[in-house]
Amino acid sequence: MPRLPEFLALTAEQREIQLAVRAFAAQEIAPHAARWDRESHFPREVLPGMAELGLFGMLIPEAYGGLGLDTVSYLLALEEIAAADAATAVTMSVHNSLPTQMILHYGTEAQRMRFLPPMARGDILGAFALSEADAGSDASALRTQAVRDGDAYVLNGTKAWVTNGSEAGVILTMARTDTAGARNGARGIAAFIVTPDLPGVRVGKHESKMGLRASPTVQLVFDNLRVPIDQLLGEPDAGFIYAMASLEHGRLGIATQAVGIARAAFDHAVAYAAERRQFGKAIKEHEAIQFKLADMATRISGARALLFAAAAAKDRGEGVTQLAAMAKLTASETAMWVATQAVQVFGGYGYVTDYPVERLFRDAKVTEIYEGTSEIQRIVIARELYGE
Ligand SMILES: Cc1cc2nc3c(=O)[nH]c(=O)nc-3n(C[C@H](O)[C@H](O)[C@H](O)COP(=O)(O)OP(=O)(O)OC[C@H]3O[C@@H](n4cnc5c(N)ncnc54)[C@H](O)[C@@H]3O)c2cc1C
Repeated sequence: MPRLPEFLALTAEQREIQLAVRAFAAQEIAPHAARWDRESHFPREVLPGMAELGLFGMLIPEAYGGLGLDTVSYLLALEEIAAADAATAVTMSVHNSLPTQMILHYGTEAQRMRFLPPMARGDILGAFALSEADAGSDASALRTQAVRDGDAYVLNGTKAWVTNGSEAGVILTMARTDTAGARNGARGIAAFIVTPDLPGVRVGKHESKMGLRASPTVQLVFDNLRVPIDQLLGEPDAGFIYAMASLEHGRLGIATQAVGIARAAFDHAVAYAAERRQFGKAIKEHEAIQFKLADMATRISGARALLFAAAAAKDRGEGVTQLAAMAKLTASETAMWVATQAVQVFGGYGYVTDYPVERLFRDAKVTEIYEGTSEIQRIVIARELYGE
């Protein structure tokens, strides 16, 4: 059980979701997370249980087979999954925050009816393919080309770092539609609903990662991939704008993942500090350890307060570009800091794989990197200060 204060004013339904997902995660996910990490095992077997709880369609309206819930409810559920296993959480976060949201907001009615119900049921997973080897923070430098040919676009190029990429039934893919090497800033990029059954798409390198080892991260290679015109999303030159708008949602998901990791590291540290004895007493009796635990609790609660304030603002329909960046920045740096302190509380035992905190330490790092590095979040926050 988490030892942190629950200060959010949750509705009865939100509390019910939180407790149901917490119970599921404690039983079905947390006991296996270390093994999944050790074996780099993508836990397909846990997806049906998650789907039964509606975790793949929380933000999808009921008309398309989802639960039609608010952002706060979704993030409460995601936080519980993340506290049990950060890798499973990123599978859920990418699916819910990016491809489903993009199809919902920018797709045609036919696209929504075709893709959202199976995605909401968890029958097919979603992925988001924006980054390339030479287009990371500067994603608009992407080079994958999409050329119109009759009733299709022909895609050539290689996408990098695609979470869920080898498992997904829908890969929301950004590719260049402007020609002759022209670069029209945010314009000139389209978003496509790529399905892996189309000839010309194959999974390339599987990344061997520091953490999140149970989450597949792959290259996707497009070799004369013909994407039917009815799988183009929205306007052919607005895909980058759609992707950026959706990343706002994604950042709240990653902030939540970070809070979950921090919470787990904190829980382990609190329990260990009560058990471990040195100098004739439990180490929690040493003031240096007490202060560490107090600072961890305070920082996690601060990050969580900012995160859910951002989520509530989003649910009120307010623009949250700056708040989402602040939440992601704060939560990810908190997760890294808290995980580092947890390793310290465990001493040498924090440094070995027999105990969970080294995994949490490895998992925390990526939250400062993906869906916009901490440096990029600071740029977003600063830009908003001047209304740029
Ligand atoms: C595990 C994992 C999963 C991922 N999943 C996905 C996914 O599903 N889909 C997807 O599209 N991408 C995904 N990514 C890619 C991720 O979003 C990028 O790694 C990230 O945006 C950073 O890009 P980069 O790695 O190329 O680093 P770079 O952009 O090369 O950055 C290197 C360093 O330079 C800094 N930097 C860059 N530009 C500036 C600047 N203007 N000012 C100050 N500092 C700057 C960065 O902050 C960083 O510290 C994933 C990455 C990882 C590691």
